[in-house]
Amino acid sequence: DPRLQGISDAIRVVPHFPKPGIMFNDITPLLLRPGVFKDAVDMFVERYRGMGIAVVAGIEARGFIFGPAIALAIGAKFVPLRKPKKLPGEVVSESYVLEYGTDCLEMHVGAIEPEERVVVVDDLVATGGTLSAAIRLIERAGADVIECACLIGLPKFKDFYKLNGKPVYILVESR
Ligand code: IMP
Repeated sequence: DPRLQGISDAIRVVPHFPKPGIMFNDITPLLLRPGVFKDAVDMFVERYRGMGIAVVAGIEARGFIFGPAIALAIGAKFVPLRKPKKLPGEVVSESYVLEYGTDCLEMHVGAIEPEERVVVVDDLVATGGTLSAAIRLIERAGADVIECACLIGLPKFKDFYKLNGKPVYILVESR
């Protein structure tokens, strides 16, 4: 797809951010180019439209940039999966392992109904730990994760692109 080159070119790789040795993929330049931002959203919308997707679940924080645009375009609801203690209502939580320590995602009880078809959205998949926690949260609600969708995949973790048996769809690989 000719749109992929523009999307790849609009992602900036910043060495040693936020810590020494980390190559940070920054999607903010893409957001400054409305045509490229639209291309990225359109590619997800074209993939998920007409598939009976009831829910787009976005992972804090960059899943909140792309998820709602996709949800509106396909007529799905948007459900935020948030870091701990941000949601005011009753929540379900799933923790996951990071390189140093653990983190946690929370979802409002009742946000997703049993049997609903769900797509999980984030900007980037590395080890897949974050998406795996999101899948567990959604499955605890009795819903069905159809696919995870990310703009960027890190090639060194390619073996993990299938998480908990769920496919991960990525637009571009990190340079
Ligand atoms: P994973 O859980 O190891 O797959 O890491 C993915 C999570 O970390 C996502 O929520 C990403 O937003 C974040 N992340 C990891 N590396 C980067 C990066 O280079 N740029 C932006 N986000 C990143």
